[in-house]
Amino acid sequence: MIVEKQEIPKVPMIMGEKRIYKENSVNYPVFNPSTGEIIGLTPEGTAGDVDHAVGIAKKAFADWSRMPPTKRAEILFKYRALIELHMESIAEMITLENGKTIDEARGDIRRGYEVVEFACGIAHLLKGESLSNIAPEIDGITIREPLGVCAGISPFNFPAMVPMWMFPIAIACGNAFILKPSEKVPFTAIRLTELFLEAGLPPGVLNIVHGGKEVVDALCSHPGIASISFVGSSAIAKHVYRLASALGKRVQAGGGAKNVQLVMPDADPESTIRAISGAAFGCAGQRCMAGSLLVGIGGIAGSLKSKLVEVMDSLVIGDTGSGRKVDMGPVIDARSKERITDTITASEKKGVEILRDGRIGIPEKGFFVGPTLLDQVSPEIDLFEEEIFGPVLSVLSPKNLDEAISWLNQLPFGNGATIYTSNGRYAREFASKINCGMVGINVGVPAPMALFPFAGWNDSFYGDLHMQGTEGVMFYTKQRVVLSRWDNNYQRINGW
Ligand code: NAD
Repeated sequence: MIVEKQEIPKVPMIMGEKRIYKENSVNYPVFNPSTGEIIGLTPEGTAGDVDHAVGIAKKAFADWSRMPPTKRAEILFKYRALIELHMESIAEMITLENGKTIDEARGDIRRGYEVVEFACGIAHLLKGESLSNIAPEIDGITIREPLGVCAGISPFNFPAMVPMWMFPIAIACGNAFILKPSEKVPFTAIRLTELFLEAGLPPGVLNIVHGGKEVVDALCSHPGIASISFVGSSAIAKHVYRLASALGKRVQAGGGAKNVQLVMPDADPESTIRAISGAAFGCAGQRCMAGSLLVGIGGIAGSLKSKLVEVMDSLVIGDTGSGRKVDMGPVIDARSKERITDTITASEKKGVEILRDGRIGIPEKGFFVGPTLLDQVSPEIDLFEEEIFGPVLSVLSPKNLDEAISWLNQLPFGNGATIYTSNGRYAREFASKINCGMVGINVGVPAPMALFPFAGWNDSFYGDLHMQGTEGVMFYTKQRVVLSRWDNNYQRINGW
């Protein structure tokens, strides 16, 4: 029997209503991280592709921006219904290309869906302010207007949620959008765009361009693009912020993180262990809100460590697309796996104690790292402030809450920090003194949902207005102030 070699699917760009396949480009392989197989080829776009997309988006913007917000909302409502209808198949797609478990993938699309839901009612937030008689005979009003063509660049770890922090709000505000998804997970972004077009979005309002540095730099410097929304690692976030803002664009750029889970001796033991394990090992630690530093106060770390090792041993690790119940999936690719295991090896050499070693006992195929627990970590060790972006939890044992806060406020990042306690006073002190933008009180992953801004600080965010919620609407609109004077002493025409 002759078995025909199956061709690996090429990933298209979407410009207007066309799917564009690049014939002679360099391609990035898209892996199924659970098996290591190549499941797609993402083309490397060029500055020319960006220019082409901007032309198409600009044309679409002219009509879209003039459409009444309530008419735009009709299309968003249809989009919401289509996502709901296809939620499960989108989740399966996320699991296939990203490797997270099906429950985690459902959460990924669900969070994005909630942003669409928020965007359905955006007309209310687009309303301006007014004050009559601001000066004698003069009335003042503000009007929120869309910016033009906006662009978004997203990471691999949330193939649905992160792009959906951006484009539903931008588009509902009347902008056109160009998305450059992560080359590692392009299929979900394509599907989300197709569904929006199916819902009635005019072609050209949402476009997809693929690529790496050349495309990102072209988006940041193209004169036809008004704003850049970026989410990814801090080094690139900083580069994007500097390049685009120097050219006068609005920029919001989310970066990396090192998030804290601080446990007071009075914390509820059972729910705390569950929350710590979920925060550290959910999505195989590949979350910008992953709780990767465990800080025990008053000797609590001792009992936490042994209980955590038990929980970690019980986690089922494996192929997330197999249909079998799996608790933790792989990391995104072989490079990530190597980086994480190298970090564990380097820390061991620096005196860190490995209480559970994720380099061993893992499936052979695919890109797996098991849950890992490292002890004796302190601010003097690089690991303290390094973003590992894998299932590695490091334990610190400061003398007291004051010392903990002073250690933790040395971290360069500022995404999330959680305190576990049954005492409101400790919680209040922690929430007011910790130097980061998203605080959890007995909540393992304090990631805000659609109505709130995703509020990273320090090296976790460059810019001013954050993604999601009202700040998202402010980011994607500019305000015009109109002052009007109508002379009261005019002669009534014809006595009307
Ligand atoms: P990444 O920085 O490697 O890539 C992000 C985007 O930038 C991708 O679209 C990629 O193609 C592009 N890119 C890569 N190299 C580039 C270069 N040299 N010049 C210009 N663009 C380039 O990030 P990742 O590995 O995809 O995602 C993981 C990172 O994202 C982690 O650091 C994580 O903490 C962060 N993240 C942050 C948030 C947040 O809200 N702050 C949310 C999710 C993920």
